[in-house]
Amino acid sequence: MSEKQCNIEDIKKAADVLINAKHAIAFTGAGISTESGIPDFRGPQGLWKQYSPEIATIDYFLNHPKDFWLFYRMRMSTLFAAKPNRAHYAVAELERLGIIKAVITQNVDGLHQAAGSKNVIELHGTMKRAVCIACGRTYPMEVVIKKIDSGQIPPLCDECGGILKPDTVLFGEPVKDFERARELALMSDAVLVIGSSLSVYPAAYIPIFVKEMGGKVIIINMEPTELDYIADVIIQCKAGEAMTLLLREVKERLGIQQ
Ligand code: NAD
Repeated sequence: MSEKQCNIEDIKKAADVLINAKHAIAFTGAGISTESGIPDFRGPQGLWKQYSPEIATIDYFLNHPKDFWLFYRMRMSTLFAAKPNRAHYAVAELERLGIIKAVITQNVDGLHQAAGSKNVIELHGTMKRAVCIACGRTYPMEVVIKKIDSGQIPPLCDECGGILKPDTVLFGEPVKDFERARELALMSDAVLVIGSSLSVYPAAYIPIFVKEMGGKVIIINMEPTELDYIADVIIQCKAGEAMTLLLREVKERLGIQQ
């Protein structure tokens, strides 16, 4: 796929929306992290071009915990080495400037927090932690990686011997914190969507809630998304470039020296 340049008129329209909003939020997906070297699921280089999505279901985990953890260990090597990119930093800066109030993310990589975002809702959990499926005790993922690398696959709970599971939401499990995210969306008058195909529900309801309450929807994504028809502004280019330009435009309007 050829890479599109960001259209500066669209960037300006998005800046107008954000500057005029009283309560804007960001909603992000795997596409914000591809420039950090983490493959998305459904994009052209997506994980599901290589693996069957079945491997990320709760049924697969429960029936084949060893194979699941071998796959996950390999995936964690990429995710743990990743650093935030300029799109994550721009989102954090927009929060510091008071332009966006919160980030609702589908990602489990922790890169928003690493970039300095404070108010982050992780709808699909975090891969920085694992949880015992028997007693609920949680473990930092570093501890779990040591267990795996010393041959304990699947890794087990020190307390009760139960099997540990990444504290992420697998297909077939309920999302986390959805009520809080929904309330935030319903009180928002703008949402900045970055790097999501908007095809995974209930997460993709977030921009729909904002739209239904009369708010504006900005979508930054390299390809068309399933909710382009509700967007007020569509910016079809890479998130890093788009967010750098958007932050610059917003700062200019706020009269901030760059
Ligand atoms: P998705 O794979 O369905 O869609 C990602 C979208 O981002 C695609 O449409 C793609 O074209 C676009 N994209 C890719 N690189 C981009 C870039 N540099 N700039 C702009 N757009 C870009 O991802 P989704 O919508 O987040 O789907 C949800 C699922 O993906 C969730 O379940 C989430 O937990 C999971 N996921 C998370 C991570 C992560 O934590 N980084 C990685 C892979 C998948």
